[in-house]
Amino acid sequence: MRASVKTRLRRGLRFARTRARELRMIGKALASTKHPILVHIIPMRQCNLACTYCNEYDDFSKPVPLPEMKKRLDLLADMGTSIITISGGEPLMHPELDEVIRHMRRRGMIAGLITNGFYLNRERIERLNEAGLEHLQISIDNVVPDEVSKKSLKTLDGRLEMLSEWAVFQVNINSVLGSGVKDPEDALKIARRAVELGFTSTVGIIHDNNGQLKPLGAREQEIFEEIMELGKRSFSRFNEFQHNVARGRKHNWRCRSGSRYLYICEDGLVHWCSQQRGYPGIPLAQYTPEMRHREYFTEKFCAARCTVSCVQQVGILDNWRDPQNLKPMPMTPPAPQPQLVQIGQGRGDS
Ligand code: SF4
Ligand code: SF4
Repeated sequence: MRASVKTRLRRGLRFARTRARELRMIGKALASTKHPILVHIIPMRQCNLACTYCNEYDDFSKPVPLPEMKKRLDLLADMGTSIITISGGEPLMHPELDEVIRHMRRRGMIAGLITNGFYLNRERIERLNEAGLEHLQISIDNVVPDEVSKKSLKTLDGRLEMLSEWAVFQVNINSVLGSGVKDPEDALKIARRAVELGFTSTVGIIHDNNGQLKPLGAREQEIFEEIMELGKRSFSRFNEFQHNVARGRKHNWRCRSGSRYLYICEDGLVHWCSQQRGYPGIPLAQYTPEMRHREYFTEKFCAARCTVSCVQQVGILDNWRDPQNLKPMPMTPPAPQPQLVQIGQGRGDS
């Protein structure tokens, strides 16, 4: 069903305001390298699903209490952070998520959310509208659910229609191509449906378990290019890295994680990214500007084969300057973690 005139007006207004804030974010990032541009924060590690490829969830952990979440958000705001994306686990399972989003907006940061979408309904979408959410991303793995993933077009299409009708925030649908994906045509069907519903669409590329860059097959590459074209409203179109990954080429770039990009786990520790948890593994409250500065100049050993596209997009703003000449050196011994992982498949964006 089509969105009402009122919803379309609210959507247009929020889009214009968010775009203006994004342009300011780019200006600020180009003018100074001293603040984080993008932070992923985890308020809830627990997930209602159990996708077999995922290393970013459990089925038992409790939500991070709201006062603790606000404290972490305040620390990030004080650092000058521009964008915060809430991720998980499944963040919609957090009982006070609306207030978390509200607090991000109160502190002037752009508010995003990555969800598997299963808890969305009209009432929940309205609450996210009211809280001030600006971006939402759902990753859809297949057209029909299978033993690997239930995040399928079939299970989620009704929720996508509700988003199309009621959401005033921007919605992006991410599909996947590469190793382990049964039918590459699924990604195209998902992307076309996303565009039909008025959303942006992106595609992630996954690799086999040894993390090697393997070029996509000929048909997969065609599909990849077509989806990139469909997703031309998304900033990811500027990401040449994704094209290199699709062709199996190593990418020469400067990963600024730990500085311009931070991953804050449910325990409030700072990590390079979801796939390099443990580096540096320092509590956010103790993470100083000097530590961020050091990470800015630290060359990441995993950069050439990295599949984490959001950090790549942040990297674009600094790739042209400041060569990295420091070697990775955890500032404290990495805390033992049950699920310390190295390079993953870059697919677990909920
Ligand atoms: S995996 Fe990618 S994003 Fe993460 S630290 Fe390595 S290069 Fe950076
Ligand atoms: S990929 Fe997302 S939905 Fe699937 S188990 Fe992981 S966190 Fe949950």
